[in-house]
Amino acid sequence: MQTERLLEITRSILAQPTAPFHEDAVRAEILMQLAQCPHVTAEQDGFGNVIACYRRGAGEARYAFAAHMDHPGYVGEEFLGGVPAEYREKNPPVRDFGAFAMWDLPAFELREGRIFSRACDDLIGCAAIVALFHELEKTGAEACAYGLFTRAEEVGFVGAIRLAQSGRVPTALTVVSLETSSEKGGPAKMGAGVIVRVGDRTSIFDDAATASLMATAKQADIPVQRCLMSGGTCEATAYQLYGYRSAGLCVALGNYHNCGPDLQIASEFVSADDVAGVVRLMVAATTTPSPANPHAALRARLEAEAAGYARFTKM
Ligand SMILES: [Zn+2]
Repeated sequence: MQTERLLEITRSILAQPTAPFHEDAVRAEILMQLAQCPHVTAEQDGFGNVIACYRRGAGEARYAFAAHMDHPGYVGEEFLGGVPAEYREKNPPVRDFGAFAMWDLPAFELREGRIFSRACDDLIGCAAIVALFHELEKTGAEACAYGLFTRAEEVGFVGAIRLAQSGRVPTALTVVSLETSSEKGGPAKMGAGVIVRVGDRTSIFDDAATASLMATAKQADIPVQRCLMSGGTCEATAYQLYGYRSAGLCVALGNYHNCGPDLQIASEFVSADDVAGVVRLMVAATTTPSPANPHAALRARLEAEAAGYARFTKM
């Protein structure tokens, strides 16, 4: 996908205000963007999560890419989401949206290859899925993939749990949680490529699905980092609890949950190249057949190497 197009999609989604349980504007923008894709259907469950599906040709979907539409913020007098009290006690300026308020920070700024926003987490994930669908549509890909856009992740995966409980997402799918994840949570470097997230603070994800995404990235020559991002817990953990095979993709995030240096509330930021990498990897995972069983390939290589030492193992 062309950078300009990706940035346009990203800008339009980041422009929408959001908070836990107040994702309406983000959802409306996502639905509007998806309506431009003739092969995408989008429906809502009873809680207001969005289940979208791109389908062209007879192929079965293998992946459901999932992102959440909320971001920590004030809802009435309460602050919902994980921002330490030391930051909030300083009463940083907020912007009022009626039922909720966000930090008074720009919605979108592009500086030196980085996207700065009051809410990269997780509107960048939402934008990446929309970009995936637009790219599949534009290239006429014969493929099938789901996109899940959930509510109220920041207070404990409320939307993802409701969606998993609803049984509306086929359990044969691998759910790939898309996140921005604190750079502090691992050795990942911002700008060094999409991160295949092997786990989070709470659990580890499916090994075969993780290996498959790594193999797809290498095959398509997409810069990739393989890391445990333990700075937070993501929706992959929640979906996994309901029996879904789960994996994670993320981009390194600066100023996680708007926590800047010196206890100042600040814009979150990500590398635009990393976001482009996530979209490329999702496109590749959707449009290329699953790489041959990555475990079988690894076993064959290790056995061949071991055979080279047979002379030392003769009794
Ligand atoms: Zn978050």
